[in-house]
Amino acid sequence: MTMKVQVNPDICAGFGICTGIAPEIFELHDDGYAVVLVSEVAPADEDAMRRAESQCPARAISLSEDASVA
Ligand code: SF4
Repeated sequence: MTMKVQVNPDICAGFGICTGIAPEIFELHDDGYAVVLVSEVAPADEDAMRRAESQCPARAISLSEDASVA
């Protein structure tokens, strides 16, 4: 199972909480929203992704588990 993470740039308000939790996965774009740097989340980072998702004030982070990829 592979976890993917996405940020919706339309609702991200650039609080930067996600970049604080996982700076190797999120980066704040100059335009004030976060971008995701990886296409797949390493298993070791999955807990951090769940934390980022639940702590994002704008609820702009969405996680998905791709069951088709081993
Ligand atoms: S925590 Fe949420 S609102 Fe803040 S930069 Fe990250 S995705 Fe955007």
